[in-house]
Amino acid sequence: MISSSDHAFQDIRDGVRDLCRQFPDEYHRKVDAERGYPEAFVDALTKAGWMAAMIPQDYGGSGLGLTEASVIMEEVNRAGGNSGALHGQMYNMGTLLRHGSEAQKRKYLPKIATGEWRLQSMGVTEPTTGTDTTKIKTTAVRKGERYVVNGQKVWISRVQHSDWMILLARTTPLADVKKKSEGMSIFMVDLREAEKSGLTVRPIPNMVNHETNELFFENLEIPAENLIGEEGKGFRYILDGLNAERTLIAAECIGDGYWFVDRVTKYAKERIVFGRPIGQNQGVQFPIAESFIEVEAANLMRWEACRRFDAHEPCGAQANMAKYLAAKASWEAANACIQFHGGFGFANEYDVERKFRETRLYQVAPISTNLILSYVAEHVLGLPRSF
Ligand SMILES: Cc1cc2nc3c(=O)[nH]c(=O)nc-3n(C[C@H](O)[C@H](O)[C@H](O)COP(=O)(O)OP(=O)(O)OC[C@H]3O[C@@H](n4cnc5c(N)ncnc54)[C@H](O)[C@@H]3O)c2cc1C
Repeated sequence: MISSSDHAFQDIRDGVRDLCRQFPDEYHRKVDAERGYPEAFVDALTKAGWMAAMIPQDYGGSGLGLTEASVIMEEVNRAGGNSGALHGQMYNMGTLLRHGSEAQKRKYLPKIATGEWRLQSMGVTEPTTGTDTTKIKTTAVRKGERYVVNGQKVWISRVQHSDWMILLARTTPLADVKKKSEGMSIFMVDLREAEKSGLTVRPIPNMVNHETNELFFENLEIPAENLIGEEGKGFRYILDGLNAERTLIAAECIGDGYWFVDRVTKYAKERIVFGRPIGQNQGVQFPIAESFIEVEAANLMRWEACRRFDAHEPCGAQANMAKYLAAKASWEAANACIQFHGGFGFANEYDVERKFRETRLYQVAPISTNLILSYVAEHVLGLPRSF
């Protein structure tokens, strides 16, 4: 099956596809069954330079944009893998590149480019505030040349497989700021050092094989030089990272969507019931065709979100809409795929149930569909604020 954007960024697609061929379905199935982390796959992507795609050439990377990074993520998912194990580095990179100091870029980027360090984690969500991010309770209080962090985070992914995390914490109490989005800051946290002195990591077993954790901070001290950008402006900085994250996840869902359509089309041509291929029945054809149309349409919004992000134009609406459309399209494609595989859709060896679980996450994380609808209703259409 050829998608309408198959010929865009063909060199990148060919390179990532070649690498992904070395990690067939059996590999991803085994990692899923073992609840493991795809170390060999992530290492191979790092060695081939794909994980450093967005790092400028001066710091050892390829100097590509979010657009190209999104193609890499799309191809991983389209090849049957799950970018959820590795996409953190791409969207965190956007935050560090745009708001980090020159000294910070010199310190972190070359080591991330070689793979010596991973920057795979971003700590935003908290158990008692959920999507209401400006109410976060984790605080970072300046004491001389250090900040002292106290609080709790939940659902923080890849902490066990990352060296660094970007942490959002409140540096000025909510009661003392004019706008609720002010007074938060972002920091680079050395995860392995932090675990020795004030950070406790508790893994959360979950439906997808997604390494994610609860974090408890008790008087964790981090050097003041780890603050990214200006104190108090962290929420604005993190929004850039969140827009990049939503756009990349849109691309991953598009990769998933093509994977589901591809698998179900092939199966529907081969599976004979009542003396003919099941795909000869319009009841089977139409949901598959509809899924394909929706994935293709979502893809158009994804390119627009990427273009705007890379051009430093406002992209919040497009990033959210791309993520909404792509997550919905991949979920519809997943439903058609599992449905028309009949009983075999539930067998591990077909990989459909694994991808089905993986793509379902994106209706909820990193932002739920309701919150996207609310953003568009209020910020794009100007309807009255509901919260
Ligand atoms: C596997 C996984 C990995 C994750 N990784 C990370 C990570 O690395 N870093 C990180 O910071 N976070 C991470 N998250 C957290 C994720 O971003 C949140 O789960 C998501 O934003 C939803 O927040 P919540 O779970 O607190 O839901 P809540 O905010 O509690 O919302 C629950 C439900 O209520 C709905 N709802 C809430 N308010 C409204 C409203 N006003 N109107 C209509 N509907 C509403 C929501 O849409 C949602 O469906 C991860 C989550 C998961 C499951």
